[in-house]
Amino acid sequence: MSASTESGAPVLELRAVTRTYGDTTALGGVDLVVRRGELVAVVGPSGSGKSTMLNVMGTLDRPSSGSVRIAGHEVSEMTDDAVSRLRAEHVGFVFQHFHLAAGATATKNVADGLLYGGVPRRQRRERAREALARVGLGHRLDHRPHELSGGEKQRVAIARAVVGDPTLLLADEPTGALDSVSGAAVVTLLRELNAAGTTVVVITHDRELAAALPRRVAMRDGLVDAEVAS
Ligand code: ADP
Repeated sequence: MSASTESGAPVLELRAVTRTYGDTTALGGVDLVVRRGELVAVVGPSGSGKSTMLNVMGTLDRPSSGSVRIAGHEVSEMTDDAVSRLRAEHVGFVFQHFHLAAGATATKNVADGLLYGGVPRRQRRERAREALARVGLGHRLDHRPHELSGGEKQRVAIARAVVGDPTLLLADEPTGALDSVSGAAVVTLLRELNAAGTTVVVITHDRELAAALPRRVAMRDGLVDAEVAS
């Protein structure tokens, strides 16, 4: 077993990470380590840098300076192609507004999460069906997004994010567009995935949700302001 897959080993390490947009400093020097098996809430006011940090964590964006390591790999030293492969292998994303392909069935949406992993088509569909069953949507395999509720759409998006068994699941306000009952179901699902071994980092405005999670990272003005472990 490599160091990055041992229990408690760092899966994500940010060191002195900055991200600037012209005169705006979105991240002003963030240090953060997330270890295998953690479930972390990122909280903080609008504009404090949460989404920028999540995008940098997930290699959707590169920092202006500083070091980002995912599963032991230093992202700043990698080519764009190598970063894309690293992302496909290690990172799953869930967004507030689901980002599903409108004309595609739930199965196809989830199967496409394996497109970059070199998995043959038949296996992609089989694993997609398994992932949908895992999120409680075994009865919605052929439904298209417009035939699903908001909560169901988010569960399809979560199935897509985890079908490749990522090291790290990153969720940006996953309950932000949902009613409270659907939101609670999504939180329960994230907790179940975490209990089964997935490391999860979730941005949330929901104080109740954040309070219920084992670790909270609070951001302010592009910096980690405080950490509350309970
Ligand atoms: P949060 O997710 O906490 O609301 P963001 O990470 O979205 O915060 O934004 C942090 C700061 O960076 C804000 O001042 C925002 O306006 C700025 N910012 C974020 N993305 C961009 C961008 N693409 N171009 C310019 N400024 C940006």
